[in-house]
Amino acid sequence: MNCIFCEIREYILENELCYAIYDKYPVNKGHMLIITKRHVKDYFDTTNEEKIDIMDLIDKCKVMLDDKYSPDGYNIGINCGEHAGQTVMHLHTHIIPRYKGDIENP
Ligand code: 5GP
Ligand code: ZN
Repeated sequence: MNCIFCEIREYILENELCYAIYDKYPVNKGHMLIITKRHVKDYFDTTNEEKIDIMDLIDKCKVMLDDKYSPDGYNIGINCGEHAGQTVMHLHTHIIPRYKGDIENP
């Protein structure tokens, strides 16, 4: 099975069951992904232990990103299934720093 997230070996942060990296195509400065070390299709296939480690890395990414970029807020989200916008079929949680004024008003 070819899975890009199973092949990543260089992590920015990690704990026992998950790792965090920067998104290759960031939608905003500091966009990161938290990824299970085990190949899991989506959030609903995770164990409780994996859920705890995802939450733990969300908190640790926030501390790091606050320090590095001082964003004004965050979006945290998971796309589950191709019809919900999931393009890599290995669970990943997006943590996206937001900056005041980064939404263009029409
Ligand atoms: P999805 O649309 O499945 O929720 O998000 C997939 C994310 O993975 C996208 O934000 C995309 O930019 C990111 N991505 C795709 N390929 C790679 C890669 O090879 N490395 C990294 N770091 N991110 C990737
Ligand atoms: Zn995988």
